[in-house]
Amino acid sequence: MQVAKSIVEVRDAVAESRQRGSRVGCVPTMGALHAGHLSLMTECRRQCDYVVVWIFVNPTQFAPHEDLGKYPRPLEDDLAKCSAAGVDLVFTPEVSTLYPEGFETFVTVDQLSRVFEGTQRPTHFRGVSTIVTKIFNIIQPDVACFGQKDYQQQALIRRMVRDLDIPVEIVTCPTIREPDGLALSSRNMYLNKDERQAALSLYQSLQWASERVRAGETDLVRLRGEMLDQLRQQPLVQPDYATIADADTLEVLDVPRGRMVALVAARVGTTRLIDNLLLPEL
Ligand code: AMP
Repeated sequence: MQVAKSIVEVRDAVAESRQRGSRVGCVPTMGALHAGHLSLMTECRRQCDYVVVWIFVNPTQFAPHEDLGKYPRPLEDDLAKCSAAGVDLVFTPEVSTLYPEGFETFVTVDQLSRVFEGTQRPTHFRGVSTIVTKIFNIIQPDVACFGQKDYQQQALIRRMVRDLDIPVEIVTCPTIREPDGLALSSRNMYLNKDERQAALSLYQSLQWASERVRAGETDLVRLRGEMLDQLRQQPLVQPDYATIADADTLEVLDVPRGRMVALVAARVGTTRLIDNLLLPEL
């Protein structure tokens, strides 16, 4: 496995693999790799001959008060996991490599970046769409794998790729969970024992909403209210939103229609967690 720190090294390695006729895939991450990230690598490996993992804690997607400084960066561990997963190339650039002095160009997906996560984190998705554009320009992959765990992120990237005619296939991989249902997240390590237990309520509220829709509930306004009430019953949980939306446009729905996704975000103690579940199609 090759580890690259410069853009030139990545471009050279990818060009060489292409000359051998490889289909090139990439898995963008911020490191602190867990089984969720590894599942993306496995899927990428299944679809591609040459797999590039991107490890970079992207400062432009963090607001000044967020956890950029304390975000975990266990690089040695991460490299061992990538190697065990059969990755061909890991790119771990410095901030100054990707954001040289004078950097001032950003990509914005207008509407999709403003809703849900965007209301709490107004500059977050501008950072995401900008870094993902840079990933696509540097690696020029045939395939890029993202997790359903960050549902709005993959929806926004799909929209960006369509709108800007970027020649890459976006693959969305299922959310990997702990045995009790908690979605794996690098931020789970911030939770103490009681918060870890309380965090289960996010997935439980999603499952409950899914069952209600399956059972024929048509009043999604009431369902949203009930999801919020359930979350609020946990003293350590402060919900930001709990909602049901169109799975492609993320338009909030008042009555069931087509492909739908239930989305929740909450602070558990001081840690902000998100989760989602695709609902049964009616
Ligand atoms: P991150 O390092 O948190 O930026 O995540 C990198 C990629 O891993 C994103 O596409 C995430 O959606 C994906 N990911 C994170 N957690 C999970 C999970 N539990 N299951 C599947 N994919 C995940």
